[in-house]
Amino acid sequence: MTKGKSWNFRNLFLHGNSALKYLGDVKGVSQPRLSFEGVFATSEWCVEPNYFHLLSYLHSGAHRIWYVLPASMKVVFEKVYSTDQTLITPNELLAKGISVERLIQREGEYVIIKPYCYYITISCGYSCSEVVSFAPLTWFNTEYFRSFKFNLTDKIFYEILLDCAHSCLKKRVLLDAIDVLLDKLKELKYFIACNISKLSVLNITRTVTLDMEEVDERHCSICQSRCFLMSVVQSKKKKEIVICIDDIMKMVASKPKETKKHNFVLHVVVNEEDIEKMIEKLKKKKK
Ligand SMILES: [Zn+2]
Repeated sequence: MTKGKSWNFRNLFLHGNSALKYLGDVKGVSQPRLSFEGVFATSEWCVEPNYFHLLSYLHSGAHRIWYVLPASMKVVFEKVYSTDQTLITPNELLAKGISVERLIQREGEYVIIKPYCYYITISCGYSCSEVVSFAPLTWFNTEYFRSFKFNLTDKIFYEILLDCAHSCLKKRVLLDAIDVLLDKLKELKYFIACNISKLSVLNITRTVTLDMEEVDERHCSICQSRCFLMSVVQSKKKKEIVICIDDIMKMVASKPKETKKHNFVLHVVVNEEDIEKMIEKLKKKKK
């Protein structure tokens, strides 16, 4: 599958046609998860995030039954499926007019689940299986990519976007989806600029650009949400307190005078200037 690499779930993301090579080695996403299941083991209905495909292989044990909903049923299903109803049976879904596909996966067989398809599995005995997410390069041309709404937390999307842009700059051959990539970079630049302008009410003294690895597990000290793209940091007794943009704005609204006294530092993974340089270089390469 990949030059010099044997057929292995661990190497799938490195394939030349894989969009996840720009994401790298990420546990539970581009790296496989092994699962050992007992008789009648099942889970909640789930769907792959980020419009990725799911690849499953049944190594050994009893067969597994898959119930899969077509992607076209996603919206209807989400209306029916409330968070407190953890297990809705395929028959209940059929009764509500939602079509359900059933398939049996036996030892040594692969199953691929397409993006936006909800699924559930039932193990008919003890089994050992492996799953991994994947996305072909056409992922850059999907509606998901084109219409992705920027937020401050979605690390996976930004990692792929920025790494792909860097990679296009290094290589002679540009990605087919270069125009979509450029549009997304422009949107990202605008999104960052909007957030920075919101923060102009604060007494921000300095901006620090961090490595993606450094921000890997940064969470807001108030709401615990992941702070990926940018966050505000307050130094208190040699301790750094990370605050997300939403919470810092709430602090400004409730205690405007107090927040002006603090020496906040803005932490970003990429700044507007860097994105602008990237856009200009990519445009020149395109000519
Ligand atoms: Zn927060």
